[in-house]
Amino acid sequence: MGKKQPLRPDIGETVHLKDYDPDYSGGFKGKDDKIKDKDEAVKPLEHNRQRLEKLQEVLYAEAKHTLLIVLQAMDAGGKDGTIRSVMDGVNPLGVGVTSFKAPTAEELAHDFLWRIHQHVPSRGMIGIFNRSHYEDVLIVRVENLVPEAVWKKRYDHINAFERLLADSGVTILKFFLHISKEEQKERFEERLKEPDKHWKFAKGDLAVRAKWDQYMRAYEDALTYCNTEWARWHIVPANKKWYRDLVISQTIIETLEKLDMRYPEPEPGLDKIVIPD
Ligand code: ATP
Ligand code: MG
Repeated sequence: MGKKQPLRPDIGETVHLKDYDPDYSGGFKGKDDKIKDKDEAVKPLEHNRQRLEKLQEVLYAEAKHTLLIVLQAMDAGGKDGTIRSVMDGVNPLGVGVTSFKAPTAEELAHDFLWRIHQHVPSRGMIGIFNRSHYEDVLIVRVENLVPEAVWKKRYDHINAFERLLADSGVTILKFFLHISKEEQKERFEERLKEPDKHWKFAKGDLAVRAKWDQYMRAYEDALTYCNTEWARWHIVPANKKWYRDLVISQTIIETLEKLDMRYPEPEPGLDKIVIPD
């Protein structure tokens, strides 16, 4: 394992997840290059939260751009924790979270993107997908929920769908929270130890865990085939929660800063207005 690790696989790169260390926490880019542990990460993370709060306000006020954040991970990979931590302080008015579960009968009676498209955020909004259309080439593939000929075509469908969104003013950020199988075990054990966390544990999670390698292969294909200029994948080392949160908040901030957003022009003559008693 080299010293640096790319966050974004190159477009066209065949992703091998064993080349990406889930424990990685080095080379944090930004003002605080020397962050080594949780305690040191507190301040920069807080700084990022405040920055994000401001950026989100302009995004909302300008109502021109849309940000769609896609979170994918194995169970206990930290999707919920990421949302809680990174979005802490952001005005809830401007953020929508959608958690995609197993499809309902009505959803299954449509094409696989039907239910997804309805939840794409509108202009000015940040939308977060907690799981997403990628489940349709992950669990659906591993569990053989549709024939191979059907899921194989979905990579192209996903790329075309994401291109439509990008062409419509949606900036798409896709994060795969990469944890190790050992880390998942520890997090599951934690959930079993703490009564307040029991609700987070489903016995079915063990059946998914048993197919870890198959899931990793399915993820590798999704990360390879659906890594496009208009919707790049980020492989986030996620064994260390503080590093995961820093990387994701930093990436969101840098993305929003590039949009060069402005508050809308005020109505003319505001300086002459006197508010009547
Ligand atoms: P947590 O990590 O807190 O348990 P979760 O995202 O795992 O959250 P659950 O309600 O436990 O939420 O699980 C949702 C389940 O729905 C997952 O197992 C996921 O794989 C499954 N799912 C999502 N989309 C699809 C789909 N298109 N087809 C089949 N299963 C799906
Ligand atoms: Mg679950």
